[in-house]
Amino acid sequence: MSIQNAYLLSVLDGLKARSAHEPEFLQAVEEVLESLEPVIEADPRYEQQNIIGRIVEPERVVMFRVPWVDDSGKVQVNRGYRVQFNSAIGPYKGGLRFHPTVDLSVIKFLGFEQIFKNSLTTLPMGGGKGGSDFDPKGKSDGEVMRFCQSFMTELQRHIGPDTDVPAGDIGVGAREIGYMFGQYKKIRDEFTGVLTGKGLSYGGSLARTEATGFGLCYFADAQLRDNGMSFQGKRVVISGSGNVAIYANQKCTQLGGKVIAMSDSNGYIVDENGIDHKIIKEIKEVKRARIKTYLEYVPTAKYVETVAGQPNGLWTVPCDIALPCATQNEICEADAKALIANGCIGVFEGANMPSTPGAIAAYQAAGILFAPAKASNAGGVATSGLEMSQNSERLSWTFEEVDAKLKGIMEGIYAACAAAAEKYGMKGNIQAGANIAGFLKVADAMLWQGI
Ligand code: NDP
Repeated sequence: MSIQNAYLLSVLDGLKARSAHEPEFLQAVEEVLESLEPVIEADPRYEQQNIIGRIVEPERVVMFRVPWVDDSGKVQVNRGYRVQFNSAIGPYKGGLRFHPTVDLSVIKFLGFEQIFKNSLTTLPMGGGKGGSDFDPKGKSDGEVMRFCQSFMTELQRHIGPDTDVPAGDIGVGAREIGYMFGQYKKIRDEFTGVLTGKGLSYGGSLARTEATGFGLCYFADAQLRDNGMSFQGKRVVISGSGNVAIYANQKCTQLGGKVIAMSDSNGYIVDENGIDHKIIKEIKEVKRARIKTYLEYVPTAKYVETVAGQPNGLWTVPCDIALPCATQNEICEADAKALIANGCIGVFEGANMPSTPGAIAAYQAAGILFAPAKASNAGGVATSGLEMSQNSERLSWTFEEVDAKLKGIMEGIYAACAAAAEKYGMKGNIQAGANIAGFLKVADAMLWQGI
């Protein structure tokens, strides 16, 4: 689908000229703007008030030096980022990613997506994202702690419980959040819900750890049921083996699916008897080892090494359902075609922007189900929103209470996306529905708040 509307085209062309070196960001913006054509044409105020020109520009970008001392006494330097993209409907909210591929383009694409995702949750949260090119892999706990402390020493002056509330993302789990929270508290001398994904002993919410993976499966289940299908008896392939992937495995197994393949950046495992999420949890969260270690637990499983720069064979494993839960652009057009040729009925995104535009076009041409990340992985940030509510109340809700709210939110997001798609003449197109439903609330708030 290409954009025809002159106003949208002029905004996109201007952005391409100014941000030519930010490919992931431009990809995320183009994907949203394509869906907004009928919305812009139906209401002239969006163009009159240049809402699109404003929404693609972050309110604030912070970049900073993060110096730290490694175990050998050497001084290392990384680059830190926080992009505060849009606060029209609430304080900035979005994760921190620690991964060597992090740059401004990646953080801006994630922050832009986060605006619409947070809006879809119906909770009062604006969009933001941050992180660093620091790689926690292979670092000692002491090194990770010193890095996190240095990172927070600068970040703390830009965030706060009513300003900007970061959370985890790739490379940022309970350990990193703990060290950053400790440093924030020490410098600011206040115990507030300034980060989410905290440990249970100091303000975390039950079910936050599980929320993105569980939420993805609640969303997928709603979409499957709406199309007369379910997880029951389905072969499922999940990419990644981190936070999102592990709990997606647990929930879709509970819903009757069988997870036959999972991966990390070195390779993938195939176990036709179904992969037990508890083994992956131990390998990744306790041992912090590679997925290949699975063979020590299940010798009958198969392991295939991934070669950097070569196609990822994971998507050629025949499956009914694909849950990409690793990283951006991990399913290219050829991967999508391989999935479709093997009979895949749906791709439900756990990671952010895991499908390239070519892959999405292939899903659409084949007519398979497609759940876009900003809707289907919104369960993590939604539960972060619930963690913020509990912190404000100074109360803790039970696992069942939070899980039930999460399920309700995910089913609500599916219904909102489906309704928006239908209203704007694209029935069944959940991708367009998500962009439209997410946009309308933020755009309306921006109109009310003036320029
Ligand atoms: P984790 O760090 O817990 O796990 C990431 C997994 O993806 C690991 O298995 C990792 O393998 C793999 N991976 C990461 N980068 C690459 C890469 N470039 N190539 C191949 N594999 C890679 O992260 P999360 O599970 O938290 O996040 C996964 C995705 O879900 C991300 O896109 C994130 O933005 C998104 N997301 C996460 C949310 C959350 O609540 N955590 C909320 C919403 C979205 P390896 O260990 O080898 O690097």
